Amino acid sequence: MSEASANTEFRENQYSKLSKKLRTNVGKAVVDFNMIENNDKLMVCLSGGKDSYTMLDMLIELRKRAPVSFDLLAVNLDQKQPDYPEHILPEYLEALNVPYHVIERDTYSVVTRVIPAGKTMCGLCSRLRRGTLYGFAEENQITKIALGHHRDDILETLFLNMFHGGTLSAMPPWLRSDDGKNIVIRPMAYCREQDIEDYSTYRNFPIIPCNLCGSQENMQRQEMKKMLRDWETRFPGRVENIFRSIQNIKPSQLADRKIYPFSKRNNDDA
Ligand code: SF4
Repeated sequence: MSEASANTEFRENQYSKLSKKLRTNVGKAVVDFNMIENNDKLMVCLSGGKDSYTMLDMLIELRKRAPVSFDLLAVNLDQKQPDYPEHILPEYLEALNVPYHVIERDTYSVVTRVIPAGKTMCGLCSRLRRGTLYGFAEENQITKIALGHHRDDILETLFLNMFHGGTLSAMPPWLRSDDGKNIVIRPMAYCREQDIEDYSTYRNFPIIPCNLCGSQENMQRQEMKKMLRDWETRFPGRVENIFRSIQNIKPSQLADRKIYPFSKRNNDDA
């Protein structure tokens, strides 16, 4: 075997192992959190980033093998940033033969008008995006909204909320919206970002950058990402343990009187 074909075979092996690992993690999260039920109509939110492209691949595969029947609708929000390459996603989705819809909503003008120059726009932009997607889901009998957040997004949010918000909370894999009208699922809740990055490189997705608007990704989130990556390198297993810890909470060993009746418990025990 020539060196070139040995390399190709090695790459294909790696790709197939990685796809399997991601499919297994997605399948496990879907089962653990009962994310998909018979006759669900899933709206797959596609931004053009590595996470959402990977999620779509995984859900297409899952749909072929799942014991329940469900439909997928890929939805992209064109926020009218300057130079947004609006042809990329339609061409990609048509080639895949996936039903899709592009919502055109000029949130870019709103965000640039409201946020002073030099400030991060991502907070307001995300809120407007969420409102638009929730509204579309309600109007189109969508039963679940699938978002491409992964394990590392969840942990970054956990530390952001602890360090800057004083709460112990993260991003749940399954969430009913505050008004009760929508259900959000995160099928990649068990997937490592590094695996998604590697998979995306193998797949050569036509990535659309999020910062076409000129804003920078939230700096504090970037700090959390750096911290977690550093821990992953220096202390193997630490990040996995932290993720396990949010699935294994002991309210009696914390100090929140709203979720654990400490004094009542002591009286009962006495
Ligand atoms: S970087 Fe992305 S999230 Fe932030 S304001 Fe721009 S489009 Fe919105």
